[in-house]
Amino acid sequence: MPKLATHWWILIGLVAGVAYGYVAAATGHAGHVADWVAPIGRLFLNLLKMIAVPLVLFSLVAGVASLDDSSKLGRIGGKSIVLYLGTTAVAIAIGLVVVNLFGPGRGLSVETREALLQTYGDAAAQKAQNAADVSIVDQLVGIVPTNPFGALADAQMLQVVFFSLMLGIALTMLSRKNPQTAHVVKVFQLLSDAIVEMVQLIMKLAPLGVFAMLAATVAELGEDPAQLQDLLGSLGGYMATVVVALLAHYLIVYTALLKLLTKVPWRRYAKAMVPAQLLAFSSSSSAATLPVTIRCVEQGIGVDEEVSSFVLPLGATINMDGTGLYQGVAAVFIANALGVELDLGQQLSIVLTAALASIGTAAVPGVGMVMLVIVLKQVGLPEEGIGLILAVDRPLDMCRTVLNVTGDATVATIVASSEGLIHEGERHHDAA
Ligand code: ASP
Repeated sequence: MPKLATHWWILIGLVAGVAYGYVAAATGHAGHVADWVAPIGRLFLNLLKMIAVPLVLFSLVAGVASLDDSSKLGRIGGKSIVLYLGTTAVAIAIGLVVVNLFGPGRGLSVETREALLQTYGDAAAQKAQNAADVSIVDQLVGIVPTNPFGALADAQMLQVVFFSLMLGIALTMLSRKNPQTAHVVKVFQLLSDAIVEMVQLIMKLAPLGVFAMLAATVAELGEDPAQLQDLLGSLGGYMATVVVALLAHYLIVYTALLKLLTKVPWRRYAKAMVPAQLLAFSSSSSAATLPVTIRCVEQGIGVDEEVSSFVLPLGATINMDGTGLYQGVAAVFIANALGVELDLGQQLSIVLTAALASIGTAAVPGVGMVMLVIVLKQVGLPEEGIGLILAVDRPLDMCRTVLNVTGDATVATIVASSEGLIHEGERHHDAA
């Protein structure tokens, strides 16, 4: 390969994937893409998923067990949670301001509305049924795994984080009584380093993986171009609203926070994040992107492993600025399309419910829309309303996942900076 940074190769893979998927759909070869190209994308995604759980376990245990000062963990955890909740609330508020300004859905004709509800009604009812099984209290109780090996096997990230934290703390306590403990911590440290080496290897396949994932998504969406054009006509305003609000949150809120609270140059941060963002866009999963996010934040921005190994897995699981923002916009769009006025009180209650719903959203494709049902119920909108937006959920999922991942990295950078744990120079090299 000619000398070009990895993120450029990923970008080339992304553009080529879109073009390939488009041409394949237009020439009636979408089936070939699904049969032969899509598996390459799934293979790449599996490689990333394969290392996400062991990476969190090893690096979190090693990170916590090697903390020299036990109050540090509480401080880092506290700051992360405050920032995670704060940025999510602001993201939802931005979404609500933009959707009220643009007002998408107000002009949706009755025929289009009925056609969408009819076409997607069954799928929407299915999603609503899934959401009915989710209770916030159960989710809280469920953070503690009854069987940590089960949690690892099922990739239950929050449970894995909880167990790893407790194991790390226990090892710290034990080390005061038994100096041999240091060997165990060293093993976790080395295993974690080995996984980072694996990320390095897997990332060599990223351009091809991204190409395949994008080709498959575009070929599937473009199979019926007439329907796609119709959808873009009726739902284009809604999609544009989500994208503008996501961009505003990234460019205004993250940039301001970074400038005010850290000394990290914006250019370094923005450049370091590109590989993770491209991967988030292609995979629609913050969990699958996690190993790459960790690598970008550590090697590109210079955040110390002590912070990144704890703050990022936590963020990938509970912090979803993009999902919360999207849920707010989608709720107002559905209300507009159904001719329902939401007053200020109802819109404020969206901020709270969407924040909770985004925390409960699993970091995998499409779950943000399932959890939207909770927000709709809160403001008294019919859950079948998600039938109106289902058809265009995938591209928006790709975009909101980018913000979810960027938000985690921003908070990790701020927390590391406040602890004096950003490495200037020595670890910092091009993440790509
Ligand atoms: N796909 C999103 C993520 O993994 C979650 C969602 O909004 O559906 O971050």
